[in-house]
Order: sequence, then C-alpha cells, then structure tokens
Amino acid sequence: MSQTSQHFIQGRSRDASDGATMDLISPITERVHARAARGTAADIDAAVAAARAQLDGGAWSTMPGSQRAILINKLADLVERDADKIADMDASCIGRPPIEPRLLDLPNAIGTLRTSAGWADKIEGRSIPTAGYMGIKTLSYTRREPVGVVGAIVPWNTPFMITSWKVGPALAAGCALVIKPSEETPLSALHLAALCQEAGIPDGVVNVVTGVGEVVGHALCVHPGVDKITFTGSPEVGRLIQRAAGDSFKRIALELGGKSPQIVFDDASLEQAIQGCAMGLFFNQGQVCAAGSRILVQRGIADQFAKTLAGAAASIKVGDPAQAGVNMGAVASKAQFDRVNRYVRKGLDEGATALVGGVAEHGTGYFVRPTVFANVSNSMTIAREEIFGPVGVVIPFDTEEQAIALANDSVYGLGATVWTNDITRGHKVAHAVKAGAVGINCWAPIDPRLPWGGMKSSGIGRECGLAGVHAYTEEKVITLLLP
Ligand code: NAD
Repeated sequence: MSQTSQHFIQGRSRDASDGATMDLISPITERVHARAARGTAADIDAAVAAARAQLDGGAWSTMPGSQRAILINKLADLVERDADKIADMDASCIGRPPIEPRLLDLPNAIGTLRTSAGWADKIEGRSIPTAGYMGIKTLSYTRREPVGVVGAIVPWNTPFMITSWKVGPALAAGCALVIKPSEETPLSALHLAALCQEAGIPDGVVNVVTGVGEVVGHALCVHPGVDKITFTGSPEVGRLIQRAAGDSFKRIALELGGKSPQIVFDDASLEQAIQGCAMGLFFNQGQVCAAGSRILVQRGIADQFAKTLAGAAASIKVGDPAQAGVNMGAVASKAQFDRVNRYVRKGLDEGATALVGGVAEHGTGYFVRPTVFANVSNSMTIAREEIFGPVGVVIPFDTEEQAIALANDSVYGLGATVWTNDITRGHKVAHAVKAGAVGINCWAPIDPRLPWGGMKSSGIGRECGLAGVHAYTEEKVITLLLP
C-alpha cells in the first residue's frame, strides 16, 4: 500500500477531524492500494471558511484578472510537467489503461486551464442603452462578479479532467472552491490543489475534502457559506443534490448521465462508422457519460453492422493494463462490476441476443466483457437506462424520421453522432436530435472552447467555453443618474 492522503485545506494537508480514513481498492488486484481521509461536516466547515476568507477581503478578492491569468497559466504548466504522473494516478484508481488519460484527459485538462487563463482578464460587462424613467435619464452597465464559494463534486470516471472543467473556469471568474472528489479517485484532485499552491494561487482558494458523498458531499450542498454547487455524476445523486442545495437557493450546475444514440445511415462510410461506434462504446470500459451506447442502424445494413461491431468487440483484450497487448482494463469497482452484469442479465432476460460478451465471471479483478446486443427494441431496459460499462445495443430503423424519433425517445440528451455521407441529412438530423453535443461522422469533441452539457435528464447548465466561465459569475446591473 503506497500512501494515506489527507485533505488539503487552507494550503495545508490535514487529517479528517475525527482521524477517520477510507480504503481505496484497486479494481485490478482488489487489494487496498491507498488510503484517504474520510471527511466530516466539520472538515467541510473548515474548507468553506478558508475559501470564504479569500473572497471576503483575502488576496484573491482584489487580484486583477490579468494576475489570475498568469497564475492559472502557471498551474497549467505544472500540470503539464506532472501529466504522466497524474494520468497514472487516475488510471490506477479505476483500473484503466494509463495511455487513455495520457492521450485524452490530461491534454484536455491542460487545455482547459490555458483557455480559462485566457478568459480571466476578459470577463466583461455591458453598457446597455435604457429608456430611463419618469423623464429621468440614466446610464446602466453590468459587471460580472464571481458567484462566490463553489462546491465542486466530481465523479470517478475521468476525475482530473472533470475537476479541471470546474477549477479552471471558476478561478478565471475569481471564485474560490471546495472540491469533493469521488471516493474512488481522490488522489489527483489533491495533487491539483498542491500544484495550485506551487503556482502561487493563494492558500484557501482551492481546497479538497475527501470522503463519502452522503457525508461531505451533502455537507457542501447544505452549507450556508457555499454559493454554487457544480456537480458531475449520476442523475440519482443529481436529484438529491438539487433538493439539498435548493433550500438555500444555491446556483446549481448538473452534468449527468446519458444514453447517447449513434445513428448510422446506409450511405455512411461503414469502416469509419464501425471504428467510431466501437470507440464510443468501449473507451474507458464504456464508463463515459457520452458513451454512444444506443446504436441505431438503417435496417438494410443493421445485421451486418452488428456482426462487424461484435467482431471488433471480440478483438479487445481485457485484463491488467500493465500487461502487453491489453487494451481494456477493469471497471472501477465491485459496484460497477455488479451493475454491468445486472444489466447484461436483464438484457438476456428481456429477450435480446448477446452477439459477443455476456455475463462475466468474477475471478480476481473487476473485469467485465465487452458486449453487443442485437434483437433489441428501444423499450428494453438495456436501451433506456445508463449501464456505464462496455455494453451496446443495436436497434434497426427504416427512415430518417424514425431514426430521429428513436434517438429522441430517451430521458437523456447528452451526446449523439450521425454517420452519413449526405451532409445535408447530417445537419438536418443533428438539428433535430435533442442533445447537448452532436457529431457528424466524428465524436462531438470535448474541447475547452466549446460548451459541454446535456438536455433533459442529462443535466442543467454548461461547462467550458464562454458559457462555462459565465456560469461562475453573477451579472450585476449598476445605474447612474445622468444630469
Ligand atoms: P455518483 O453520482 O455516484 O457520484 C458522483 C459524486 O457525487 C461523487 O463524488 C460522490 O461521492 C458524490 N455524492 C454521492 N452521494 C452524494 C450526496 N448525497 N450528496 C452529495 N454528493 C454525493 O456518480 P459516479 O458513479 O461517480 O459517476 C458516474 C456518473 O457520472 C454517470 O452517471 C455518468 O454519466 C456521470 N458523468 C457525467 C458527465 C457529464 O459531463 N455529463 C461526465 C462524467 C460522468
């Protein structure tokens, strides 16, 4: 076992107020690979007080955006310096091949910090012509002020990247944060907080409290000193958070789950579509919010497409990512292992056919089987609920209208992809699908310059892009009497 990590509050590492710790279990070996502080509501009190002090007259509260930009850029440089180490930390916590976060999560996080730094001195108000009142002339303008103390609650699937989506824009806007990482993956957030200190960001601006969601996550949501909760995670917990934070009218941003459709027309480049669908299904063991897990295929090519996709799944080597040739690791926890198997069993019970994969045996390590289901209808549980594992369903459709109707027949609306060589159709379908981001012949990219978020049960609000920075501000109107 390598380490016991502590909270990071007011620039110092400290134990939980009652000294409690929690075990982090390796999904590959099922042994304890690290321990972390198991926080309490008192720890949240301390972290919120540290953040508040920075906003109520601390150095951060008067620092100009241009200086914040310099510090956030320094932070990006330090993350770049430690990128492989951070990627490996995240990968080992959830049993994922480290090459994935090295290639995607860390470059994205560094880009998010640099883009955020660019915004820090460009958060502008507006001067708005008004009618005045009762013959009196006035001049009105707006200022975008930091929303205040932000509670950032993060999941385990791509933890460092998602943390950066919250930290970068919040710092750009001048906010201070208390981060609550997932129970499974607290290490990279703690490292980020230490790098904030190394970059010269004043102590207390970025705090991390580790522990259990129901305790420290909940304490953040109900804390009177917290102004905004930004949450990424499951819709079930999103609902609890909305209720808990709603009592004190906190600003709330929710990035939730998905059941994203991939719509494959018979005029698409099938090689490209197969590759894209396989990537959308199996990347990070399918533990991706925007995983393209509902594959809608035009009927004439549906059977062949499903067989080819199943062949791609069969060629995936599942195992310990440290071993040569392995390209899929374990799922993140025993709970995930049981969840994926439960859904696979449900699919079989409801009459779907597993062309490849199926229920996994439990040996050592939480390894599941990449699974492609055919004979699926959109009303089956496996087509409606988020599995969050490497399990896809292939559903045939006849017409463009039917494809759109099927795509939209879901409570979710996070991502979608349209595979077609008819570019007019591509745009038409992309406009009609209710999702926050739609790709045409490609993945809707998660780029720091683009807003990211869901429609319907996939969330409320947007992260990243200018919208993501504005989400950490309040627009205040100031009016001056004119002579
Ligand atoms: P989860 O909802 O179980 O947990 C997320 C976080 O919430 C964790 O830090 C957890 O400790 C905390 N939490 C749990 N109960 C809480 C409570 N009562 N009050 C406050 N906080 C609490 O989600 P997960 O299993 O970590 O992540 C998987 C989910 O995240 C999937 O549904 C996935 O789609 C979603 N996700 C969405 C996006 C997106 O951008 N939309 C990105 C990644 C993951």
